[in-house]
Amino acid sequence: MLDLKKSKVRWDKDNYIPKKVYGFETEPFKGTTEEIARTFLRENQDTLKLSDTLNDLKYDKTTESLGASTVLFQQYFEGTPIHGAWVAVHIDKQNRVFMVKNDTVPVTKLNEKIASAKISPLPENEIDSVIDRKIKEYGTLNTDIQKESMIYPLKGILRYVWKVKFGTKEPAGSWILFIDKTDGHIIEERNVLRKADGKGRVFVPNPVVTLNRDDLLDEADKDQDIFKKSYKTVMLKDLEPGGYLKGPYVDTTDTPNSAMCSNLDFRCTREDDRFEEVMAYYHISAVQSYIQSLGFNNDKGILNHPIKVNAHGGTDDQSYYNPSPGKKDITYGDGGVDDAEDAEIIIHEYGHAIQDAIIPGFGQKSEGGAMGEGFGDYLAGSFFYKFKKNESRKVKIAEWDAKGYERGPQECLRRLDSNKHYPEDMQGEEHDDGEIWSACLWKVRKLLGGKKADTVILESHFYLSQYSDFRDGADAIIMAEKNLYGGKKTKGLIKIFKDRGIF
Ligand SMILES: [Zn+2]
Repeated sequence: MLDLKKSKVRWDKDNYIPKKVYGFETEPFKGTTEEIARTFLRENQDTLKLSDTLNDLKYDKTTESLGASTVLFQQYFEGTPIHGAWVAVHIDKQNRVFMVKNDTVPVTKLNEKIASAKISPLPENEIDSVIDRKIKEYGTLNTDIQKESMIYPLKGILRYVWKVKFGTKEPAGSWILFIDKTDGHIIEERNVLRKADGKGRVFVPNPVVTLNRDDLLDEADKDQDIFKKSYKTVMLKDLEPGGYLKGPYVDTTDTPNSAMCSNLDFRCTREDDRFEEVMAYYHISAVQSYIQSLGFNNDKGILNHPIKVNAHGGTDDQSYYNPSPGKKDITYGDGGVDDAEDAEIIIHEYGHAIQDAIIPGFGQKSEGGAMGEGFGDYLAGSFFYKFKKNESRKVKIAEWDAKGYERGPQECLRRLDSNKHYPEDMQGEEHDDGEIWSACLWKVRKLLGGKKADTVILESHFYLSQYSDFRDGADAIIMAEKNLYGGKKTKGLIKIFKDRGIF
C-alpha cells in the first residue's frame, strides 16, 4: 500500500488530490503491465482519491522506454472523456511501481458540477458554422476536420465541448479548438504547429540613416568595415519548420536559391545574398505586427497572411508589387544598391500590397496611382520615424538605395515634405505626383500624431474605390478621423487639403 508520508508528493491544491507520488517502490507485481497498473490503482484508490469502481478510467496505452513502462488511463464521465484527465502508472523492469501521476477530476466534483452542465446542446450545423468561420480566419483548410466530444475542466467549471482538430495552409497551422456544446463559444484555441524563432542581421532602415553618413557607396555589394556598426541583430519570429524564411506574414522562398538554414541562424552581412531575404522577412513582419497593434487584426486584419517575396528579382534597379490574380507578390531588384537592402523600399512595396488587399485594383486613375506611391512612401517614413535621430532625414525616403543610382549617388529617392501644389505641379508621372499626396499625409501625421495618423490613413482606404482620386482620398481621411476619433480635427484636415489645392 502506498504511504504518502513515506513518499514524495505534489498536490493539486484545488482538489486536494495527490497529483504526483514518487520516491517509493512497491514489491514486484505479477501479470502484464496493464494488470499491474490496475492492481496498483485498485489497492490505492482511496489514497489517490480515485473513484470507487475505477470504471471511469479506461485503459489507453502502454509506452515502453529503456528503463520502464508507462501505463496510461483516461478518465471518462458517463461515456465522455474528460480533457486532460489522465492517470499514468510507471513500472520498472522488475515490475515494481515507482511513480503514479494523477490528473483526474474528483468524482464528487463531477457529480456536483456536471449536472449543471447538462443543458441542451446546439444543433451540429451551428457548431459547424463556428468551425467554418474559424477556418476562414486561419487560412485554407488542407486536412479533414476531426471532432470529438469531451468534458473540459476550466477553472473549476466542467463543460461539455467539441474538441476539433484540423490543419490549414497559407499560413500553415495545426489547430485545436474547444467549442462549448451548449452555446458555441470557443473556450480555447491553439495552433500546435511547431514554429520557431530564428536570428538575423538587418539594417533599420538603412546604413545612411544609422551611420548618419551620405558618402556610403555600394562598391558592388561588398561588405565594408564601415557597415559594421549599422547591423542590428534581430529575432525572425514564427518561422515554419523547414529552415526557410517562411512565416505567418512573409514567404521569401520565391527568391532564386532561397535562404535555408536548418539552425535558423540567418546572421549574415550585405555581400551575402541571404541578407536581402532576411531584410524582407524582418521588416514586412514588423510592419504587419505594427498594423495589427493599431487594431487591424483578426477579422479586421489587412493582409495578415504570408505575402510572397522574391528578394533578388533581377539586375534592374526596380522593385514592384504585382497585383495580378494568382500573383499578388513583391519583387525587389538588384540594380545599384540591392533594393531589399533599404528597408524603406521594402515597406514602400508592401504599401502597394496593403492597398490592393483593401481595394483590389486600387489606382485605376492616375491620381489613384499617385496616391499609391505617396502612401508607400508615407508608410515607410512614418514607420521609421523614430529610428531617424537626424531630423532632416525623417522626410527623406530610401537614402541608401539612392546612393547606387546609375546617374550617380543622390540624396534620396523621394521626399515627404514637397511643396508641390495641385493641380499645376502634376506631371503625369505617378511617383513624382505621389509627392503631392505623401506631403499631405505627412501633414496629417503632424496634426494627429504618428499612431493616430497611421490608423486614420489605413482606415480611410476602406472608404475608397478603384477609381478614387485625391479629392476622394482627402474626404476619406476626414471621414475616418471622424469615425475613429470624433471629428475633432476636421477643420485642421480640411486646411491641409485646401492649402495643397485639393479642396
Ligand atoms: Zn511604388
